[in-house]
Amino acid sequence: MANSTTSSHLLPVFARADLAFERGEGVWLITADGERYLDFTSGVAVNALGHAHPHLVAALQQQAAKLWHTSNLFKSPEGERLAARLCEHSFADFVFFANSGAEAMECAIKMTRKYHATNGQPERYRIITFEGAFHGRTLATLAATGAAKYLDGFGPPVEGFDQVPHGDLDAVKAAIGPATAGILIEPVQGEGGVRAADPAFFRALRELCDEHGLLLMFDEVQTGMGRTGELFAHQRFGVAPDVMALAKGLGGGFPIGACLATAEAASGMTPGSHGSTFGGNPLAVAAANAVLDVMLEPDFLPRVQSIALLAKQKLASVVDRFPQVLSELRGEGLLLGLKAVVPAAELMAALRAEKMLSVAAGDNVVRLLPPLILSEAELAEAVERLERACASLSAPATTAQREAV
Ligand SMILES: *Cc1c(COP(=O)(O)O)cnc(C)c1O
Repeated sequence: MANSTTSSHLLPVFARADLAFERGEGVWLITADGERYLDFTSGVAVNALGHAHPHLVAALQQQAAKLWHTSNLFKSPEGERLAARLCEHSFADFVFFANSGAEAMECAIKMTRKYHATNGQPERYRIITFEGAFHGRTLATLAATGAAKYLDGFGPPVEGFDQVPHGDLDAVKAAIGPATAGILIEPVQGEGGVRAADPAFFRALRELCDEHGLLLMFDEVQTGMGRTGELFAHQRFGVAPDVMALAKGLGGGFPIGACLATAEAASGMTPGSHGSTFGGNPLAVAAANAVLDVMLEPDFLPRVQSIALLAKQKLASVVDRFPQVLSELRGEGLLLGLKAVVPAAELMAALRAEKMLSVAAGDNVVRLLPPLILSEAELAEAVERLERACASLSAPATTAQREAV
């Protein structure tokens, strides 16, 4: 029998809004009866180029008519091309394709352990992670995430993760021991509440890794693919990792993840050491190559940077004007967070009443993750809706509301 209150047969692991969409156009999502919502979720940083982008639609339609799947038993010319482009535009020499962020992270964790094992130090398998992190929902990535609310009830967490306070260099130093294999961090914590760290902190992590022979691992599943105004967020502070996980924006809405690594870091990953049935499937790599076609146009990232700067200015002014509702604007590029004074859920509901969609994050933050193609007019529209939502939350209660309390 299905859940008696909703009669849904979907496993009830998500608290879904009572709202469904039939189609999308750019930054808009449209219900079956034609109501238009401004989408500042981008499917949680996935639809980086908005909905129904003509170049992505054409690429996927053309690939769908040719070939869907061949497995990794055979060569993949389009997969080769995607990997070569990702390497050309990053620190990496090798790419493994997976289907999700968690899988890309699993590869990163396995690769880091295998690197030391291959170098004759199999006892080095532990990875230092940070409080407030989010790395996925598989057993290993949950252990890396380290939050009790996600781990409780699922048995002993996978061994080998040492969590320290975010941004605390002394704690990192103290956690490094003879079993340490690597340090794993998000350039900006997304789920954790849009929390950035000082560029100097990342430089110090790089130095610590070099000094102790550790691999530096960046989880750019959310921050990657233009979200912060550079193709990869770490390019903003000029510190390259040894291993990096990508997913969300990579396929523009088609599921694909990737683990990128230097030749040195990848040296343990020999034939048979890892795999995936679907990873790098022709449809997925066609979608991701189409995303790169758009993002690698010379004016694409500069335009993201300029609209992001404008968004920051306008949103900061809203924060100033509604101190009863908002206390802080956080984030980089178009990975933005509004720290709320009211419960974040109330702000999200007020935004939804204005037909604007946002995403919850930790630390009572409401994330704003618009498609990177956001125009100035659409930004202005969003700011007006946010102002109306804030005004509705800061308005003095009506007599009727006061009497109801
Ligand atoms: C979303 C996310 C993941 C997990 O990705 P899935 O595709 O949901 O498995 C991992 N790391 C970060 C930083 C994320 O934002």
